[in-house]
Amino acid sequence: MAETLKAFVCGHPIAHSRSPKIHGHWLRQYGIDGSYEAVDVSPADLPDFLKSLGKQGLRGGNVTIPHKEAAFAAADHRDDAAEQIGAVNTLWLEEGRLFASNTDAYGFAANLDDRAPGWASASAAVVLGAGGSSRAIVHALRSRGIGDVRVVNRTLSRATELARHFGGGVSAHEPKALPELLGDAGLIVNTTSLGMKGVGELPADPELMRDSAIVTDLVYVPLMTPFLAAAERRGLKTVDGLGMLLHQAVPGFERWFGRRPEVTAELRATIVADLDAGR
Ligand code: NDP
Repeated sequence: MAETLKAFVCGHPIAHSRSPKIHGHWLRQYGIDGSYEAVDVSPADLPDFLKSLGKQGLRGGNVTIPHKEAAFAAADHRDDAAEQIGAVNTLWLEEGRLFASNTDAYGFAANLDDRAPGWASASAAVVLGAGGSSRAIVHALRSRGIGDVRVVNRTLSRATELARHFGGGVSAHEPKALPELLGDAGLIVNTTSLGMKGVGELPADPELMRDSAIVTDLVYVPLMTPFLAAAERRGLKTVDGLGMLLHQAVPGFERWFGRRPEVTAELRATIVADLDAGR
């Protein structure tokens, strides 16, 4: 009998993760004899956990907050996206060695390809926020050829550090510069946590954006953030953050379970129902 294929997501805490629902949906859809379990691993336990993957019969898995940088350091081999972003979310074993990738940039771009085809023809983009997720977004924008990426953050030093990391074509700004930065930008991405739970100030004013701008938000709880709602009222094209979460799971599933899964309306509806249930 063929062995059950096993994968995991580890974080601390981990109960909030939607990844088991996403991978569970695909395992059922494709009739694969596999499992994908959430494991709460403390930072102190992470090194031993990662060393024991093979012994536990795990082919690989996802890592989430707060382990993305520590897993980067622990990996024997990292792909280009991981190196550029400096953090990883997807791990797999190859002949006993730990391989690592960051699929957030892929997920972000695939979501926009799906929902706003042509987005990458923007000559300038504004990235709001310079936290953990912002690096993946800047990497995605640069990889897709956007030559003028303007990172805006409350704490300017974090934006400056990010711009320095990526080099030419990425600039750092304070929020007070937004009126000059937004007017000619084709794409505006919110990577700040503003808007989580549907409350708080907007990260930028859609009235300052041009009519053809595409606005996307990484925050997906709620799905329609106050920022996206304001952009819609202004008549702009908007893309919510759930698609990024779904698409970033695709490369990992393919590695562990041997089949490239599809992000379908049915999967999206399953996760939306889960979010609505507040679990
Ligand atoms: P971080 O905590 O690393 O960064 C938070 C960012 O938000 C920083 O730039 C911070 O600015 C800014 N910020 C926080 N509070 C305020 C405020 N009151 N005013 C202005 N700026 C503020 O978070 P992440 O980058 O990891 O995640 C950000 C969001 O993206 C989260 O909601 C997360 O759930 C979501 N996300 C979604 C993904 C998806 O697949 N859709 C993937 C990854 C993340 P400062 O530096 O000044 O503190």
